[in-house]
Amino acid sequence: MAEAALKLDSYKEHITIWKECLSLIKENVSLLTYNTWFLPLKPLHLERNILKLQVPNNYFIDWIEEHHKTLITNVIHNVLGVDGKLIYLIIEEQEDTLFDKKSEPENIVPPFSEPKPVEKNYDDFLNSKFTFENFVKGEGNQLARAASIAIGENPGQTSFNPLFIYGGVGLGKTHLIQAIGNKILDKDPNKKVIYVSSDLFTVEFVEAIQNNSVNEFSNFYKGMDALIIDDIQFLVGKEKTQDLFFNIFNTLHLSGRQIILSSDKPPKDLKGVSERLVSRFQCGLTVDIQPPDFETRLAILNNKARLLDLTLDPQAIEYIAHNITSNIRELEGTLLRLLATHSLNSKAIDFDMVKRVVKEISTNRQVNISIEYITKIVCEFFKVEENKVREKNRRKEVVLARQVAMYLAKSLTKSSLKTIGLHFGGRDHSTVIHACNTIEESMSSDYQLNESVTNIKNKIEVSVS
Ligand code: ADP
Ligand code: MG
Repeated sequence: MAEAALKLDSYKEHITIWKECLSLIKENVSLLTYNTWFLPLKPLHLERNILKLQVPNNYFIDWIEEHHKTLITNVIHNVLGVDGKLIYLIIEEQEDTLFDKKSEPENIVPPFSEPKPVEKNYDDFLNSKFTFENFVKGEGNQLARAASIAIGENPGQTSFNPLFIYGGVGLGKTHLIQAIGNKILDKDPNKKVIYVSSDLFTVEFVEAIQNNSVNEFSNFYKGMDALIIDDIQFLVGKEKTQDLFFNIFNTLHLSGRQIILSSDKPPKDLKGVSERLVSRFQCGLTVDIQPPDFETRLAILNNKARLLDLTLDPQAIEYIAHNITSNIRELEGTLLRLLATHSLNSKAIDFDMVKRVVKEISTNRQVNISIEYITKIVCEFFKVEENKVREKNRRKEVVLARQVAMYLAKSLTKSSLKTIGLHFGGRDHSTVIHACNTIEESMSSDYQLNESVTNIKNKIEVSVS
C-alpha cells in the first residue's frame, strides 16, 4: 500500500486517499466525533506522500491533535506509508478567489491554494545586521550553521522542524536564528516571520491576559510562517505561558510552518518545562554551538576588525584570540573598546592598550541575572515573602523590598521599565521609575540602606558569576 501510494500523482488521488483515511477513522471514533471533526476536513492536494487538508480553523487542528493525534498518525502511516505526512491548511470557505480559475473538472474540492499573503502590520524584531554572510564558520558552529542555512532556504520544508539550537552565552545563537529570519524574508518578503525572546513572549502573554485578548495574542503567533523564539530557557516555571506556547507550537508544526528555538541548555536539561513541550522540542533537529577554536577566533577578529575599519597588528589579534576564548561577544567587545579608546584619546593602538582592554573585558564578564533571582535574594535579605512584593501590599518593609528589587532589576539587567513593572504584579513603568529614584536618593543619605543594597548586589553578582 505504501509503495503504491508513493507513485500516486493524478489529481484525484488526494480524494481517494482521504476517503480511505476517513473510512479508517470512522471505525475508530464515535459518529458524532466523525461528523463534527473529520467530515469537514477536505483533501486539497497530494504530493508524493504528503497530504494537504483544508481545515476550517485552528480550533480543528488543536482539537484533533489533542484528542486523536495517535489515531490520525496511524491512519496516515497506514494509507501513505511510514513517511506519510499530513499538512493542515486553514482556508476560509466563503472566499471565491480561492477557487482557482483553471479549476479541476470535479467540483468537490477547491484546488490547492495557499492563504493570501497578509500585509505586514507588525514588528518582526529582525535586525538586518545578522546575516549568514557575516557569520564566520567554525568547527563549533558548523552543524548549527548548515541547518540554519537549509531552513533559511526552505522554511518548513526540511525535517529540521523545530530547529533547536543551544549553547553558552555569546556564541552566536541569536545571530544564527536572526539570520534564518532575514534569509526567509529575503527570498520571499510575503512570508510572515517573527523573532521574539521568550521573556518578551511571556510579558506579552501576561498583558494579553490582563486585557482579555489571549485569543488575539495566540492567533497572531499562529498566523506566522516562521516563529523564532530566543532564549527559551526563560519559560522555565512559567506553566501558563508554556501551555499556550504548546498550543501555538502544535498549530504551526502541524501545518508545516517553521519553528526555530534557542536555549542555553539542551531540551532534556530544561527542568521546569513541561515534558510534553520538551518532547516537542526534540522532534526536529537539536544542535549545539560550541565555543570557537583558536582559528575561528582569529577569523572572527579579522573579520570584525575589517568591518570596524580597525587596523591591528597580527600579534595583537593573536593576543586577543589567545586570551578571550569562550565568548564571541567578548571578542567583539574587545575590538569595540579598542576602537573607542583609540578614538577618544587619538592614541595609536599599542600592545599595552590591547593588554589593558583584554584584562578589563575578562574581569568584567557579563552575566545573565534574572529579575526573579534578584527578587528572591532581595526578599530573603529583607525577610519578606516573595509573592508580597508582587501583590498590592503597602506594608513598609514590603514596599522597601519591592523598590530595592525594582532598582536592582533596572541596574543589573537589560530589562525595560515595562518588563520590570510586569514582573512586579503588572505595575506601570512610572512606578518603576519612581522606585529607582526613591532608592537612589535614599541611598545617598541613608548609610544603612546604602550598605544593605551593596550587600544584596554583591550577593547576587557573586552567586551568578
Ligand atoms: P548568543 O545569542 O549565543 O548569546 P549572539 O548571537 O548574541 O550570542 O552573539 C554575540 C555576538 O557575537 C554577536 O554580535 C554576533 O554577531 C557575534 N557572533 C557570534 N558568532 C559569530 C560568528 N560565528 N561569526 C561572526 N560573529 C559572530
Ligand atoms: Mg542570544
